[in-house]
Amino acid sequence: PELVNQIAAGEVIDRPSSVVKELVENSLDAGATRIEVDIEAGGARLIRVRDDGGGIHADELPLAVAAHATSKIGSFDDLEHVASMGFRGEALASMSSVSRFALTSRVRGDDGAFRIEVDGGRLHAARPAQHPPGSSVEVRDLFYNVPARKKFMRAERTEFAHIDDLLKSLALARSSVEFRLGHNGKPVRVWKAARDEQAQLQRVAEVLGEDFPAQSLRIDHASAGLHLSGWVGLPTASRAQADAQYFYVNGRLVRDRIVAHAVRQAYADVLFHGRHPAFVLYLELDPAGVDVNVHPAKHEVRFREQRLVHDFLFRTLHEALAQTRA
Ligand code: ADP
Ligand code: MG
Repeated sequence: PELVNQIAAGEVIDRPSSVVKELVENSLDAGATRIEVDIEAGGARLIRVRDDGGGIHADELPLAVAAHATSKIGSFDDLEHVASMGFRGEALASMSSVSRFALTSRVRGDDGAFRIEVDGGRLHAARPAQHPPGSSVEVRDLFYNVPARKKFMRAERTEFAHIDDLLKSLALARSSVEFRLGHNGKPVRVWKAARDEQAQLQRVAEVLGEDFPAQSLRIDHASAGLHLSGWVGLPTASRAQADAQYFYVNGRLVRDRIVAHAVRQAYADVLFHGRHPAFVLYLELDPAGVDVNVHPAKHEVRFREQRLVHDFLFRTLHEALAQTRA
């Protein structure tokens, strides 16, 4: 079963930032309002994510790190099948099979906290610990027992940059949550919870650059069950960067060809030839109208009505941009 977890781990846990992604998403799922990420040595030595979310009861700690699918594997042929099933319920099991892992948690209202440790997949009994309401996960020495994978880790700076990018995209997705990021004991980012549109735009500015608010246009439009909001860089913006493009579908960062095409067309049509506009856009729609789980680790989606979504995006952006010219 260990081998299976390690192989499965390769699917979604391929570098420190993918550990951070899974942990922060768990914290968000747990209703956290404050999430702290501490990194040492680009994540190779330590990844720690602390939250003030709902916590986990002591008797459920072993379950949280248990792999749900291991018992289903009868032969080597099944492995591929399992890997392609994706990752629901597998993240903690996977990362704890390739690191020295600890999960400490306290449920609000409970007297104390409990901590469970897993060493390269070997589970130790839960013990009482100190912790405020919420959870902390520590992942130390990632891939220490999988040398082939450890080889693929890049320089500390590179791995940390991936984590920083990931946190930016999560911070933009959830502006009501406070995020902190530290590296080697030094604070790197502090994003306080944004309670109104002005504060949200401030967070956007911290990620996209201080000149973005002055060089952007507010979008907020709904029609036919689709709602698009956020900010797009004006054609006059000087420092618009191609990678400062954030598009969220129901709160999830997405890279989608339909979306990219609609945005590009809207800009090209108005006056933005050959440039890459910066934007932060949020599309909300009925979850039944979109499949976000095409691949759990990738940013792909599949819209049920692609044409409708494309035309809505194009028209909304086109109208907004065209006004700036009038
Ligand atoms: P999944 O998130 O797909 O359920 P994970 O392996 O990521 O699988 O997590 C397993 C379980 O552990 C979660 O379903 C949740 O019950 C619990 N859990 C993990 N992290 C946290 C957290 N930060 N706060 C509360 N519960 C958590
Ligand atoms: Mg999870």
